[in-house]
Amino acid sequence: MISFDNTETAFKHKSNNELSKAWWLFKFIGNNKLVALSKPFAALAARIGPTRWLIQETIYAHFCGGTSIRTCEKTIAHLAEYNVGTILDYSVEGKESEADFDHTCDEIEATQNRALLDDNVPFCVFKLTGLARFALLEKVSSDAALSEAESNEFEHVRNRVERLCKKAFDDGTRIMMDAEESWIQPVMDELMLEMMQKYNGERAVVYNTFQMYRHDRLLKLKALIETAKTQNFNAGIKLVRGAYMEKERKRAAELQYSDPIQPNKQATDSDYNQAIDLITNNISCCAVCAGTHNEESSSFLVKQMAEKGIKANDERIFFSQLLGMSDHISFNLAAASYNVVKYVPYGPVKEVLPYLIRRAEENTSVAGQTSRELDLLTREKKRRQKDSAT
Ligand SMILES: Cc1cc2nc3c(=O)[nH]c(=O)nc-3n(C[C@H](O)[C@H](O)[C@H](O)COP(=O)(O)OP(=O)(O)OC[C@H]3O[C@@H](n4cnc5c(N)ncnc54)[C@H](O)[C@@H]3O)c2cc1C
Repeated sequence: MISFDNTETAFKHKSNNELSKAWWLFKFIGNNKLVALSKPFAALAARIGPTRWLIQETIYAHFCGGTSIRTCEKTIAHLAEYNVGTILDYSVEGKESEADFDHTCDEIEATQNRALLDDNVPFCVFKLTGLARFALLEKVSSDAALSEAESNEFEHVRNRVERLCKKAFDDGTRIMMDAEESWIQPVMDELMLEMMQKYNGERAVVYNTFQMYRHDRLLKLKALIETAKTQNFNAGIKLVRGAYMEKERKRAAELQYSDPIQPNKQATDSDYNQAIDLITNNISCCAVCAGTHNEESSSFLVKQMAEKGIKANDERIFFSQLLGMSDHISFNLAAASYNVVKYVPYGPVKEVLPYLIRRAEENTSVAGQTSRELDLLTREKKRRQKDSAT
């Protein structure tokens, strides 16, 4: 059975200097007050030479691959040395013009061209809000009638999605769509189902994301698998818990509709594991990428694979974590021959700032406890010190 306790394997890819840098970074972002104090100045700091340099050398260097696909090459090669793949995640957010959406689509296509070069980039990814106006997606999702201009605009959105999915099919690669807010998810589900029906006949090329913190998603997943069975295609599934919980709950309370989120964490965990069980039971028509930093879920998937006779390196099952987080899961799984792929965000420093702030906030300490990342880094530092002393 897999163990995630081996910090030597987890951090083999880091020199002593890199380990120390990571330790200091998590020590800093573990401090709630410092993170809260820095947040209002972050945007300004990212624009000024010396502070931009500081961000680039610390938090950015830890969580991002580079400013462009080319500058991510070092990270891609470094991860590949340890059998860990890369998902190039173009992390520029908050764009709203047609020109921006076309530009993002071109950029995703460039990641697809990179994926063609070797096996080190097994998936590409996009967010629908990178290719379309949020308000338009919300309107389509609500089934409201579109004006002629909006219908045309949506046709462009559909064409962008089609272009990326068709390219993944033609190239023999894979593409996944991230999940976002529940009130724009219906249009994403529709588009992804259409793409799976079209391109997932032989194998899973197109993957949709299922957020198990939503209490309705297990049923939705069951329905997708049933459709895949009857229509003879492969259901491509990225399985996550979900990242927008507070926002979801706040909106539901404000607009007085029923909360789409599970009543508690246990319910989310239970549905996540039930989804793993369901997918591995139906592996002949499913493929999954488990995007999680949860050790139990990762172990549960490993166990289900063993019990159901699915090989560790079966190409229908991938584990995925973010660059700079949960290396103890990624590198221990990869060392045991499981397929592992890291999300590697990239883009100019000031553009990826919202992403970096989210990572910092997620790693602040809870009730005075050391964050898990800091704890693992401390253990590895001590182990190396002991090793060099003997
Ligand atoms: C590779 C990768 C890709 C991702 N892609 C997406 C994506 O496309 N869309 C997206 O939304 N997120 C995405 N995420 C983020 C993910 O949804 C989680 O927010 C994050 O990974 C933390 O969950 P966890 O499974 O790692 O484990 P844990 O740390 O065990 O779980 C934390 C999660 O549990 C849920 N939770 C916590 N408290 C409660 C509660 N009281 N009631 C109900 N549920 C609760 C929340 O979803 C919370 O994020 C991705 C994560 C990874 C690693």
